[in-house]
Amino acid sequence: MQDYVASLMEDVKAKNPAEPEFHQAVREVAESLVLVFERYPEYQSARILERMIEPERVVMFRVPWMDDRGGVRVNRGFRIEMNSAIGPYKGGLRFHPSVNLGILKFLAFEQVFKNSLTTLPMGGGKGGSDFDPKGKSDGEVMRFCQSFMTELYRHIGANTDVPAGDIGVGGREIGYLFGQYKRLSNEFSGVLTGKGLNWGGSLIRSEATGYGAVYFAREMMAARGETFENRTCLVSGSGNVAQYTVEKLLDFGARAVTFSDSGGYIYDEAGIDREKLAFVMELKNHRRGRISEYAEKFPGAVYTPFDASLDHNPLWNHTAHCAFPSATQNEINGKDARNLLANGVSVVSEGANMPTDAEGVQHFLDARILYAPGKAANAGGVATSGLEMAQNSMRYAWTRDEVDQRLQLIMAGIHTACMQAAERFGTPGNYVNGANIAGFLKVADSMLDQGLV
Ligand code: NAP
Repeated sequence: MQDYVASLMEDVKAKNPAEPEFHQAVREVAESLVLVFERYPEYQSARILERMIEPERVVMFRVPWMDDRGGVRVNRGFRIEMNSAIGPYKGGLRFHPSVNLGILKFLAFEQVFKNSLTTLPMGGGKGGSDFDPKGKSDGEVMRFCQSFMTELYRHIGANTDVPAGDIGVGGREIGYLFGQYKRLSNEFSGVLTGKGLNWGGSLIRSEATGYGAVYFAREMMAARGETFENRTCLVSGSGNVAQYTVEKLLDFGARAVTFSDSGGYIYDEAGIDREKLAFVMELKNHRRGRISEYAEKFPGAVYTPFDASLDHNPLWNHTAHCAFPSATQNEINGKDARNLLANGVSVVSEGANMPTDAEGVQHFLDARILYAPGKAANAGGVATSGLEMAQNSMRYAWTRDEVDQRLQLIMAGIHTACMQAAERFGTPGNYVNGANIAGFLKVADSMLDQGLV
């Protein structure tokens, strides 16, 4: 069977050159699925995984727009429609200069498994652009979003493909994208999620990914009789996921001590309290400033600028019990994982997508800590997007408490599904295998039902 993974990967690399993140995501899943194929060879003979690796459709397009000085700018837009076996394509849009085809394919591939785990009827997709919203005026962001949607609108729809936000795409961007979609299609529909509350959004959607990552960790800890009370937690990023992770950690009596952005990180020994969190939300969501300002405002905190010459990230080298990587892919390498373990971390819940590289994942699995891969731990965001779609279909809105209760039930359900799948296939406690296998089976069975399409 290891030969199967080796030959599959050779093929994937030959067909998808220069896409290392996509190779990494596929390899991890293939290694878990070997356990399934040994027992159920019918999935392998139907070449289900080979079909899942191939996107159903990829759209790549030019996005021309005009900056405030009248200069012409050109970016590249993408939408990967990966798999629609269990529902319309669903997944976020990322606006970041690092965006390329391989990164979006890895994200779309992971999304298929994640969406399946939520139990909601959503296929997998992802999209975005190499456009950088940082340093742009609201007018520039609006013109870019309008140009992006002028092409994208013909490929999406409430029953076809429903994008959401991701890095660089928050409420402001979703608003501009939605406005342009509505204008072009002459239709007010639930074509995007993460909408404003006045125009079809769901309560708790902004909070959902961060809250969900903490709910998932709570489930894992409860299985070992642990709680968050007085636990020290490391959190990376300072965007949507990081902010609401810290908020929920405060609700649960834990002490978060770090935030970061691409410039560096802050360490606040005293803990990030609600007043400090409110400062970060204002700084990041409205003033769009840098996390270094936290240390200027709160002198007890230490700011450490990012240093590309280091072979590790010092953020992961502090004594703590839990870690919530919530910035971006591959932000924890093998050395970081060893540092985390040496500093006492025994719970890792991934708010970001694939934040731990393959070597780091292996260290966590070998150490048998409570390690939740992003596919499972950050599924609360897309699950609540699914709840937003359900509310839009009903033309009705649930209360904050109703949505939060459903989110907690979904996260507990994902935890149980992962735990049971890991156990059933002989690797108890391995949430990586659990998430990959449980996510796979529902999509694979649906693909078998629907014939060779
Ligand atoms: P966001 O609001 O744009 O925040 C991203 C944060 O990560 C920012 O602090 C950003 O710093 C930092 N960051 C981004 N790229 C980086 C890089 N290459 N190096 C260092 N820092 C970087 O995005 P988000 O929605 O919180 O997303 C964070 C992660 O969660 C991503 O992996 C995303 O795919 C995943 N996720 C998000 C959702 C969701 O609902 N939003 C759902 C599931 C998973 P700068 O501002 O300096 O760039």
